[in-house]
Amino acid sequence: MTRFTRLLLVSLLALVVFAACDGPLASALLSIDESRCVGCGECEEVCPYNAIEVIDGDAVINPNLCHQCNRCVEVCPEGAIY
Ligand code: SF4
Ligand code: SF4
Repeated sequence: MTRFTRLLLVSLLALVVFAACDGPLASALLSIDESRCVGCGECEEVCPYNAIEVIDGDAVINPNLCHQCNRCVEVCPEGAIY
């Protein structure tokens, strides 16, 4: 196996692991609909990573902490997280 082939395989492997990762970057997909959020804080309570908090009446997700576990999505009574 040539050095180039090894490098290519390692790069592909890293790409696959990255794509499958349930990590912080995936959380960029989650959003809050501020028109629906009532600031109840249920999402904040259920988040195991302290990645969401209610600020001035609206939930805000910290994309650097969120692991996209979707617990906040499931618990939100207003369907404000999507
Ligand atoms: S659970 Fe839903 S309505 Fe309540 S603060 Fe969080 S996003 Fe807003
Ligand atoms: S998806 Fe999970 S980690 Fe991200 S904010 Fe919601 S509860 Fe927290």
